[in-house]
Amino acid sequence: MRKATLIPGDGIGPEIAKAAVKVVEASGAQIEWEIMDAGISAAKKGKPVLPDEVLASIKENGVCLKGPTETPVISGHRSVNVALRQELGLFANLRPAKSIDGIKTRYEGIDLVVVRENTEDLYAGIEHKIGNVAAESIKLITAEASTRIAKFAFEFARKENRKKVTAVHKANIMKLSDGLFLECARKVAKDYPDITYEELIVDNMCMQLVKNPEKYDVLLCPNLYGDIISDLCAGLVGGLGVVPGANIGDGVAVFEAVHGSAPDIAGKNIANPTAMILSAAMMLRYIGEVEKADRIEKALYDVFRNGENLTPDLGGNATTGKFCNSIIKRL
Ligand code: NAD
Repeated sequence: MRKATLIPGDGIGPEIAKAAVKVVEASGAQIEWEIMDAGISAAKKGKPVLPDEVLASIKENGVCLKGPTETPVISGHRSVNVALRQELGLFANLRPAKSIDGIKTRYEGIDLVVVRENTEDLYAGIEHKIGNVAAESIKLITAEASTRIAKFAFEFARKENRKKVTAVHKANIMKLSDGLFLECARKVAKDYPDITYEELIVDNMCMQLVKNPEKYDVLLCPNLYGDIISDLCAGLVGGLGVVPGANIGDGVAVFEAVHGSAPDIAGKNIANPTAMILSAAMMLRYIGEVEKADRIEKALYDVFRNGENLTPDLGGNATTGKFCNSIIKRL
């Protein structure tokens, strides 16, 4: 039995977490869940939004499946996601975008993964005002973080039998910062002759993704471009409701649906658990339960292909439970 931390989270979080746990159990994967409160659910019990015991549990178990969390809009509360990233050193954000038969979009045949550097760039939070007339935000790019994320992207590509890594940049303008990012990526690429390496300027990347997204495989991005491009890619395959995500550090990883807590539909048993179930499948793959992960994905894709029991956001009228049972029946 492998232990994993489960943060059901807020809003629709507990509903989609329940669905994901049922599907994982039905796949035969032996997971013992350690269930933890974070976000508003923790604050309501008088705890901080990210209690120490949650961090300790994730560190101990090495993996966590997380539902969406809300951060109270009063000062003094860090976002749970930012805090998790910082406290656990989750330096890589992984966002796969794969076409799903049965989910109607303008594209087909997309199967790419955005690998986003998660710790620096304009998100380092180094900014200040100059009187009332200007403000400066510093874009921090280091050789250490750039090399680490490039190695991560190539290792991931090799492990997942992917063929190409595309580094995304704007080094024509930011010659020093993005230039350093590219320099590191190029050095790392030399150690992976089996994987094609190419570079694209971020604006061109956006156009290429909208024109021919099926051409791309692994996109290696600094933090800001990765943030924007990963949502663009989610849009290409049906939106945030159907894409999973992972934040990965050294020996520790948090898997989560990318969408928020959807307070407008919380408690109605109509939330789409796809993103959470695919995140759970990513977690299984990460811990080596590849066959179980494949089975879950196949069963889920079968349900979509047959257009049966879809939740209202995808044009159906099934409940979360009914949709989930359709997947389980096919496992
Ligand atoms: P949201 O993603 O929660 O909702 C946007 C729209 O998409 C809503 O209409 C919602 O009903 C719909 N939606 C989202 N997920 C769905 C699903 N699985 N099934 C069906 N419909 C779905 O975004 P928001 O309204 O901007 O944010 C709500 C809260 O979530 C905020 O407090 C925000 O801070 C938090 N949030 C958390 C995370 C996270 O923890 N990873 C991410 C984004 C937002």
